[in-house]
Amino acid sequence: MDKVKAKKHLGQHFLNDESIAQRIADSLTLNGYKKVLEIGPGMGVLTKYLLDKPIETYVIEIDTESVDYLRTHYLKLSDKIISQDFLKYDISKDLGNEPFAIIGNFPYNISTQIVFKTLELRDQIPEFSGMFQKEVAERICSKKGSKVYGILSVLAQAFYDVEYLFTVDEHVFTPPPKVKSGVMRMIRKENYQLPCSEKLLFTVVKTAFNQRRKTLRNSLKSLNLSDSLRNDSIFDLRPEQISVEQFIELTQKIAADGV
Ligand code: SAH
Repeated sequence: MDKVKAKKHLGQHFLNDESIAQRIADSLTLNGYKKVLEIGPGMGVLTKYLLDKPIETYVIEIDTESVDYLRTHYLKLSDKIISQDFLKYDISKDLGNEPFAIIGNFPYNISTQIVFKTLELRDQIPEFSGMFQKEVAERICSKKGSKVYGILSVLAQAFYDVEYLFTVDEHVFTPPPKVKSGVMRMIRKENYQLPCSEKLLFTVVKTAFNQRRKTLRNSLKSLNLSDSLRNDSIFDLRPEQISVEQFIELTQKIAADGV
């Protein structure tokens, strides 16, 4: 069977460097799970290294042409190819309730949505590893004070320890993307239950970063907080100056304020 022709609307950029595929596969620690789900396997450049590991590999792929390619080339995968859209599919239908890791050279057009869905499913996902466009990988891993520190950084790091691993050049893809890529890994924190309301934390973080150049005193006006709370010195800060732990503390104070 011929190679799959890259389709732009599916974010298809096929990796053609075997050593990078191997390095991405090797970024899995294999700690605390027996299954891995690869999102967007395409023609399987990364999949074949996963199949070498002592772990059960599942793949989910939206493109039926790629699915046909995988079915003919990777007989070992056969019943573990899920021909679906990761964002819409209830993955427990295939993976049950057991923990699994997520890996991929992800479709960049939906990268933040993939991370948000992972955060929703975090009880089942102890580890998440793979390649994004460099800016997104950097954003997820950035700390307070960085220009790219934002909603995704705070929410991912509330539950996961994150690590930027390495940068990948455009020319190792067919067709080459316009941007560089970055490989990162998230390992779920041992105690990842938040000591505050998750929903309120998401609201606070999103509201603050939607006006990232303002102090919290201005950006959080819509939350109708009491004057005494708004006198707290944290309200003098802009969101990029506030650590994940401080956002959690702030959420606790806001909850106690009666919002
Ligand atoms: N991992 C392969 C392909 C990367 S391109 C490689 O490294 O060569 C991204 C892949 O994600 C494509 O195969 C594309 O079809 C697939 N994809 C795009 N949107 C998807 C979705 N919503 N769910 C599952 N797969 C998706």
